[in-house]
Amino acid sequence: MIKLPAKAISGDHAYSEVMMRRPSGGVLSDTLSVIEKTGDQYTAFLNYLTGVCESINAEERAVTDKIQIKQIIRKMPYKSAEYLSVLSASELHGSDKIEGIYKCTRCKHAIVCEETEDSDTTDRLSDLTINQTDETGFRVELKYPFVIRTTEGELEIKDIEFQFPTIENCITANLSADKSKLQFRIYSESMVKVNGGDVDKKDRARYGLAIFNAMDASDIAEIGRQNRSIGIQTTLKKNCPSCGKVFDAIINPVNFFGSALRID
Ligand SMILES: [Zn+2]
Repeated sequence: MIKLPAKAISGDHAYSEVMMRRPSGGVLSDTLSVIEKTGDQYTAFLNYLTGVCESINAEERAVTDKIQIKQIIRKMPYKSAEYLSVLSASELHGSDKIEGIYKCTRCKHAIVCEETEDSDTTDRLSDLTINQTDETGFRVELKYPFVIRTTEGELEIKDIEFQFPTIENCITANLSADKSKLQFRIYSESMVKVNGGDVDKKDRARYGLAIFNAMDASDIAEIGRQNRSIGIQTTLKKNCPSCGKVFDAIINPVNFFGSALRID
């Protein structure tokens, strides 16, 4: 059994554990085709996990029906789905080495982390911190409250409550043609309360995106930090061999997932 970094809330149940099997050839090729044709990692994770999850368990309940499993994965926090997918892919691949190129934030020197015949500078998934929580989301009290105008008058935005963005939230946000605002759309989809009051689909359409467009950058950054606080922690310290600066490099679990699935 593998414990989810954060639970999937579906219906009246909180699903916290899964049992996974190895992916079939069909699951592999379907997942790779989604990644290569559309770059849509949300749908790729949904399809992949539906293919490899044998059962998903809540307190006293084990779901093994494929259609129900897919419904629960839609409600799974993205960071939980990312963790399960990456873990499964690394087991399949037989290695958890993560290659990457990281640019020094001061001198722009590129550090290449790779495995060659005589050296190995890759990072390992098993060395990364995985954060677990019993929370289902987070609340951000804004440092810089602001007023937006909606069709129903002015609204002061002071604090916002979010659920951890689910696969479904991400897929819905990704339907929009405007990919430049994808992260804001994901925040809008996962917003559950504004100033303590419930947010519904209509509210989201009316002012969801406007809130994040108008918000102060430091409040946006705080939402991002909270959002990434569960699951695989992707920030690593790197030491620049050219100028000596120690900087934060961000590893990309989706790249790792895509390359680990390529079985030659
Ligand atoms: Zn440097």
